[in-house]
Amino acid sequence: MRKKIVAGNWKMNKTFQEADDLLFEIKEMLNKQNPEDVQVIVCPPTLYLELANDISFESNFFVGAQNVNDNESGAYTGEISAPMLKSMDIEYCIIGHSERRKHFGETNQMLKDKVKKALENEIIPIFCCGELLPERQAENHFNIVEKQLVESLFSLDDYDFSKVIIAYEPIWAIGTGVTASPQQAQEMHEHIRKLIAGKYGKEIADETTILYGGSCNAKNAKDLFENPDVDGGLIGGASLKAVDFIKIANSF
Ligand code: PEP
Repeated sequence: MRKKIVAGNWKMNKTFQEADDLLFEIKEMLNKQNPEDVQVIVCPPTLYLELANDISFESNFFVGAQNVNDNESGAYTGEISAPMLKSMDIEYCIIGHSERRKHFGETNQMLKDKVKKALENEIIPIFCCGELLPERQAENHFNIVEKQLVESLFSLDDYDFSKVIIAYEPIWAIGTGVTASPQQAQEMHEHIRKLIAGKYGKEIADETTILYGGSCNAKNAKDLFENPDVDGGLIGGASLKAVDFIKIANSF
């Protein structure tokens, strides 16, 4: 059976002390209220990966990075490589978040290379896809997401693809307080699963975890997660408060 996952994307938030406090709270709450059969992943800023990893050893959460470079090493000032993440035992990495596509010009081709590099280093990509509001308004959202998947993921072989986690994040819902309705989320997740089945077969499609992201919070998570093809969430703002984040993880 495919995994249920709730992953928190802290983005560029929290000072060191705040990060330490939040990680400690997450640890304490999970130790008391560990959601059954749900994998919890925390993706803090790179600077706090080691801290998060250390705290995770005393708790039930995993740690992920928010980005990775597609090169092995070299003159890429400010960047972080997959071998570096692997050397710190980081198991997950968000790849292709819409903010990286928008602010850092990441293209489907670049993301394909990042996914490949992560997998070569045994890091599981949490691959983000999703459409802009005008693309949805033009009823082009299914095509946009298909193009993102085809161009960045569908050249992987079965073995590599079956490790990838997908996060559908409609860009108009990220950080806006406007959530996709459970129906909108379900129809896109179903579409994604059908695309995967078309390329990799039903068995792999049925095993692929597809997360929803975009203003998912402690109030609306349950309705979203109730959908048959929604296997959890990638959570931004609401992952910055331990009580909300853990409530979301317990919303299945
Ligand atoms: C995100 O950034 O991945 C996200 C889903 O953000 P938010 O939950 O704040 O909309």
